[in-house]
Amino acid sequence: MNALAATSRNFRHAARLLGLDSKVEMSLLIPFREIKVECTIPKDDGTLVSYVGFRVQHDNARGPMKGGIRYHPEVDPDEVNALAQLMTWKSAVADIPYGGAKGGIGCNPGDLSKSELERLTRVFTQKIHDLIGVHTDVPAPDMGTNAQTMAWILDEYSKFHGHSPAVVTGKPIDLGGSLGREAATGRGVVFAAEALLAEHGKAIKGLTFAIQGFGNVGSWAAKLIHERGGKVIAVSDITGAVKNPNGIDIPELLRHKESTGSMKDFQGADSMDANELLVHKCDVLIPCALGGVLHRGNAADVKAKFIIEAANHPTDPEADEILAKKGVVVLPDIYANSGGVTVSYFEWVQNIQGFMWDEQQVNRTLQNYMTRAFHNIKNMCQTHDCNLRMGAFTLGVSRVARATLLRGWEA
Ligand code: GLU
Repeated sequence: MNALAATSRNFRHAARLLGLDSKVEMSLLIPFREIKVECTIPKDDGTLVSYVGFRVQHDNARGPMKGGIRYHPEVDPDEVNALAQLMTWKSAVADIPYGGAKGGIGCNPGDLSKSELERLTRVFTQKIHDLIGVHTDVPAPDMGTNAQTMAWILDEYSKFHGHSPAVVTGKPIDLGGSLGREAATGRGVVFAAEALLAEHGKAIKGLTFAIQGFGNVGSWAAKLIHERGGKVIAVSDITGAVKNPNGIDIPELLRHKESTGSMKDFQGADSMDANELLVHKCDVLIPCALGGVLHRGNAADVKAKFIIEAANHPTDPEADEILAKKGVVVLPDIYANSGGVTVSYFEWVQNIQGFMWDEQQVNRTLQNYMTRAFHNIKNMCQTHDCNLRMGAFTLGVSRVARATLLRGWEA
């Protein structure tokens, strides 16, 4: 099932549980605005190449729209639409005053030089600068983009609107970025895992983990789990996968990947088939890469007892049903990976205040937000007699629906 169909299905299920009026349901489903722009740049060799860029602004009832910009060959309008919708529910679950948006450019950033990426980012910003803004829509990094990408957007945007650090989050610290933002999604995943495991009388220490993805989110999650005494027994990324039943030395793997650019030839573990990682025997599986990786073709073979969705929509609704029957507990994306957007909110607040928090304050406040959201989700699970995904969806959707109804529709 494609990402938009899956996300909309989950939303409709939550709307039914909440008894939402069908007109409100319709207005929450349809995106506020969808932007599609042509981005043509000269390559380093002088030839011209054209890309298509998207920004979908899903909802702004609770505040400015918020969400990342993704550079990936598989970016398409439906997927961006689904991801924008997920951002609306995610911001509401975290209880930060934002709506949801998502953007992307269909390109392979690995094939572009740094100067080509800079030109592409600046052209994209020129095309959308009138539609984003500190109090309208605030982009951030996502797959294939990073703090440098945000610096280029900030610089290009500021040419039109004056210096506006709060127009993007996930910036370099020297340009007003927040301490702790780079680690925030991975750190939030770990706080979320701790809240869930505590509820089951367990802790990270001594449990075994398989982590799919070793980019920003996966590598931070792995590092923090390793520091807490969890055994990371399998890790994969696009260059390959490795396993060690005694636990992988994550700092060593990070050093290896930094120096060689790949998982290959890492001495501290055996190589394994990357697809096998999802069905590898472990206590906790953490998908931190693409969407749709757990589907009806592999869900029945999953051996983990807990799945923490660090990626956006890694589990297809059909897989959700299979996993529920097997008794696997799935902690949903719109909660589990909300640490990134939560610290983005702290960054935006700091920019507007013109005051910088220390890292401890960022991490401590993030932990408070993650713990509070978990308990709010559990309350919704009790009220609606539903699983954690529907607990999170009913929490997010009900908050957005209340804001929408309070604002009203009168012209
Ligand atoms: N791209 C991240 C996400 O999917 C962060 C978004 C943000 O910080 O605005 O949640």
